Amino acid sequence: MRGLTILGATGSIGVSTLDVIARHKEKFSIIALTANTQVDRLYQQVIEYTPKYAVMADENAAQQLRDKLSHSGSDTEVLSGIKGLVYVASLPEVTDVMAAIVGAAGLLPALAAAKSGKRILLANKEALVMSGQLFMDEAKNSGADILPIDSEHNAIFQCMSGQYRIGESLGSVVKRILLTGSGGPFRATNINELSSVTPDQACAHPNWNMGRKISVDSATMMNKGLELIEACWLFNTNPDHIKIVLHPQSIVHSMVEYSDGSILAQMGQPDMRTPIAHALAWPGRMESGVGSLNLFDMAKLEFEEPDLERFPALRLADEAIRTGGTLPTVLNAANEIAVQAFLDENIRFTDITDIIEDVMSQATMQTANSLDIILTQDAWARDTAKTLMHEKQFRVV
Ligand code: NAD
Ligand code: MG
Repeated sequence: MRGLTILGATGSIGVSTLDVIARHKEKFSIIALTANTQVDRLYQQVIEYTPKYAVMADENAAQQLRDKLSHSGSDTEVLSGIKGLVYVASLPEVTDVMAAIVGAAGLLPALAAAKSGKRILLANKEALVMSGQLFMDEAKNSGADILPIDSEHNAIFQCMSGQYRIGESLGSVVKRILLTGSGGPFRATNINELSSVTPDQACAHPNWNMGRKISVDSATMMNKGLELIEACWLFNTNPDHIKIVLHPQSIVHSMVEYSDGSILAQMGQPDMRTPIAHALAWPGRMESGVGSLNLFDMAKLEFEEPDLERFPALRLADEAIRTGGTLPTVLNAANEIAVQAFLDENIRFTDITDIIEDVMSQATMQTANSLDIILTQDAWARDTAKTLMHEKQFRVV
């Protein structure tokens, strides 16, 4: 029986994880479920899955959850804040941690899981982008296995040999990784109309149903940029060995090209329960609830070169990982602030990447070898992005 903590249980990935677990209750014991402010959702999940702990990042929300649970006679203990998140990510009875908090808020609990040698099911790509070297070093030192949840990285992992472990170098037999991305909702939109698209249009992804932050990232293709950086760390490689490929149907989830000319692809429905089940069952397999892919229903599979003018985020992420140091931390933090401002309708869609580029151009390069440096740079980039938005009055009129 494996003991599982789900960080970000109320989100899109968290809910899909519980859906898979519900099909295999005999294999997993849920030790902890966590959320930020969604009291009612976490309450329902606690009643259904009876974890030992429930954590709300927000203190007031924690008190509300405590009150609700005490009325219903539940004996789940409610913890709060970052301390509570870190605690449930490192408990001895926890074997697996699903890291599915969105954004930098997930860094400390994910690092705690890495430090304490857990099997980390990593969805929270922002944590890896902001602290790649540190995160991979912690996992290596403690012997923690990392299993990628991001569908592309999970696909790449599935296309590797069975002996391959995340963090190892690819060796000479792997020629390159082909990282696929759909191009999001604006792949074919007139480029002049991008400045006036709304948050709801940006969040209407053609193939995937996801949280709002990653949906906007998919629309700017910063999601693919973050995934490029994520792939460099997970597969111990560099952007010269990774080619981003537009694939509008989201059926091929990524590919690996070998030195003999073979290209292995992982295909399936665009449903996150497949990579989640793969990681939960690894090195085995188990049922995920995802139906068969009907090859005859698919008219065709298309592959295109990405357009860097339409998607400047790809250029910025490439620059960040090639420069290295704390530049990926800065890129990630500025992106989080800009995306939130766009969702709050304070800036235009096309301002997102302009702000990130401005913040990156003001950044001082530092070696990202301590948590202190990473958190300081993260805070600096957030402040700088806010100041820039204010000064330039990137306001929607
Ligand atoms: P979501 O917005 O649906 O859920 C986010 C979860 O994090 C929620 O449970 C929320 O309560 C929690 N959370 C948010 N802010 C928090 C904070 N400050 N402190 C503690 N908890 C907080 O997001 P999602 O779509 O499930 O994405 C989660 C992560 O998985 C992201 O890093 C995303 O990039 C990655 N991911 C998601 C998908 C997908 O299909 N949704 C695919 C690949 C990768
Ligand atoms: Mg992905």
